[in-house]
Amino acid sequence: MRRIHIDIEGIVQGVGFRPFVHQLARRCGVGGWVLNDSRGLSIEAEGEGEALAVFEAALREEAPPLAVISSFAVRDCAPLGETRFVIRASAEDSIKKAQIAPDAFVCEDCLRELFDPNDRRFRYPFINCTNCGPRYTIVTAIPYDRPHTTMVDFPMCPDCRREYEDPWSRRFHAQPNACPACGPRLSWRDREGRLDEATDPLARALDLLRRGGIVAVKGLGGYHLVVDAANDAAVAELRRRKARDEKPFALMSRDLDQVRRYAWISDEEQRLLQGVERPIVLLRRREDHQLSALVAPRNRFFGVMLPYTPLHHLLLAEGFTALVMTSANISDEPIVFEDGEALRRLSGIADAYLLHDRRIHTRTDDSIARIMAGRPVLMRRSRGYVPRGVFLPQTQEPVLALGAELKNCICLTQDNRAFLSQHIGDLKNLEVLKGLEKSAAHLQDILALQPKVVAHDLHPDYLSTRYAEEFPGVRRIAVQHHHAHLVSCLAENGRDEPAIGVIFDGIGYGSDGRIWGGEFLVGDAQGFRRAAHLAWLAMPGGDAATREPWRMAVSALIHAYGEDLPDLPFLREINPSDLRLLRQMIARGINCPLTSSCGRLFDAVAALLGVRLHVSYEGQAALELEQLIDEAEEGVYGFDLRPEGEQLVIDPAPLVRGLVNDLAGGLSIPVLGARFHNGLAVMIRAVCTSIRDASGLSLVALSGGVFQNRCLTEKTQALLSEAGFIVLCHSLVPPNDGGLALGQAVIAGRQAGGLEEG
Ligand code: ZN
Ligand code: ZN
Ligand code: FE
Repeated sequence: MRRIHIDIEGIVQGVGFRPFVHQLARRCGVGGWVLNDSRGLSIEAEGEGEALAVFEAALREEAPPLAVISSFAVRDCAPLGETRFVIRASAEDSIKKAQIAPDAFVCEDCLRELFDPNDRRFRYPFINCTNCGPRYTIVTAIPYDRPHTTMVDFPMCPDCRREYEDPWSRRFHAQPNACPACGPRLSWRDREGRLDEATDPLARALDLLRRGGIVAVKGLGGYHLVVDAANDAAVAELRRRKARDEKPFALMSRDLDQVRRYAWISDEEQRLLQGVERPIVLLRRREDHQLSALVAPRNRFFGVMLPYTPLHHLLLAEGFTALVMTSANISDEPIVFEDGEALRRLSGIADAYLLHDRRIHTRTDDSIARIMAGRPVLMRRSRGYVPRGVFLPQTQEPVLALGAELKNCICLTQDNRAFLSQHIGDLKNLEVLKGLEKSAAHLQDILALQPKVVAHDLHPDYLSTRYAEEFPGVRRIAVQHHHAHLVSCLAENGRDEPAIGVIFDGIGYGSDGRIWGGEFLVGDAQGFRRAAHLAWLAMPGGDAATREPWRMAVSALIHAYGEDLPDLPFLREINPSDLRLLRQMIARGINCPLTSSCGRLFDAVAALLGVRLHVSYEGQAALELEQLIDEAEEGVYGFDLRPEGEQLVIDPAPLVRGLVNDLAGGLSIPVLGARFHNGLAVMIRAVCTSIRDASGLSLVALSGGVFQNRCLTEKTQALLSEAGFIVLCHSLVPPNDGGLALGQAVIAGRQAGGLEEG
């Protein structure tokens, strides 16, 4: 007889781990107990040596699907002669530090029941168990217990209660447990928002979708606008009603076979699609697809996800190849998630509403990911991933980091873990700021901590910066934008040592008050220096240049050629008086802030090639340029590198002249676009090599929104690795500003800690 004690840490509470251990112990014939404690799970098991070995191995290998084990420690202890195995009551302090699990897709067992006519939950859209279902979106407070979720509205019926209390049931302590007798229900409202109680809501929704209607569907973290993706008129009408929206629509299909009818799926993409997180995955479009071309105009990719709620399965069981499932928001506003608000704001867009009465406490958009160099990279980290923690290289005092402006996301640290919030949105209006405030309060609630340090961007005018000033009695630490990007990438990769940061993005406030965005930094969480940057270009009209890439193209041309502009097709598309005015602005330096932004260089090139003269969202021109390049092309445009003081300045003039010459020579746009991407990768290798020669550093971190570009990221990674660099990229934290708060939190944590020691 032996007795062992096992401590398991990670996401192991609220995911069905205790009943799993209980059942396993009975199966193996071992005695002892299991309980939740403040670090995770504590187990003691006693039995024959062989039975214990089987028990221990199975604990690791068969853990419940939603569990994430971060540490597993076993030690021997003195046998007590216990033969029964029990689930013990949790220790008090455990309940406070228990991590809340992310929302998870409906599991195979529940799916089987969903489509089993003999099951009491046959076609019940809210079926779930401890292995699946809503979590983060319905939690209102800790401990994670039914009264602290929006399921408090639904007292369990005796049948559900019995399952909930039975350690042998898959629904033992499944907080959202429900059935048609006691749980949430669907409802149907017409275009005017009138409730129709006589009808079968699901049948009505399917009927309307088949006839090409637009249905607003209440989901897990918000509302989707849904149409049949194969119905061209329906998709066109949705685009028309969503007016200014040019972004590609996300798709949902029942299974991989359906997806294969319109997109190519690699093994890595398949794993990502089928993961418990169920993100939207960018997949290469098939040329022979039968879906509407308006789903993703000017795009070689479709954003596709598999169903993640029982309701999705019910909608998709009826023969649609794919449904458009686009976030129900109006341009830059946050995703709609409250019923009254949905009816008000979607009026005029939706033909009808498929609703339910389970409240969404925290709105959470779909996450977006793509495979780059064989690894998943998140573009938007939200539903399914939040609030899972990121492990930090060091333990630090709690910091609340507020992010920047675009794609805002905040972060709260606890010990050696960082908890990033869901995607909050572009912080340009009060609506989104309210979302930020709510998220900050919610994160502090569910982690039960009040940070004494608040980190924010260096930009004085960001709403997030101004919000930081409202916290009473905290220490505020401003963090330079690109420094935060660098440290975000280091932290996500568990690194703490100095590195070369290649930080390319749209815009960020520099230490000198200028607009940076094409930066080579050298540093770590303690500090940084700017080793090299793209040459300054005038950004005529400031923000207007972001919306109108043609302005950057003219600026780049004047930079390369002076006043005698070459004759290019795109110039003929510009109103002559606008062009004259712009040239005067540049000549006199009126309203022309300087920028070293790589995002704006992409804009300049895209406009110069005639791809995009105007955009409706940041990064659109670069995205469309990436879509059309000829991937077989190996030509390269050069940059001039010249020292200026301690820094290296990277001048794009040769690149601009190369583009103009090749355009005049009649080369195709895809070839020119490829040469631009290739040129950037070669330039990055040259600059990193020069920094390595001077500093001895060979660790490189790639971060910033530009590294959402797969072609550039893969080429850069390959060239740097060939040259002997160790290259760090983002994966679970977005390279764009959605990952910024992580870097801010680590930098501020280091500064705050440093002062305490001194
Ligand atoms: Zn389940
Ligand atoms: Zn029930
Ligand atoms: Fe940025």
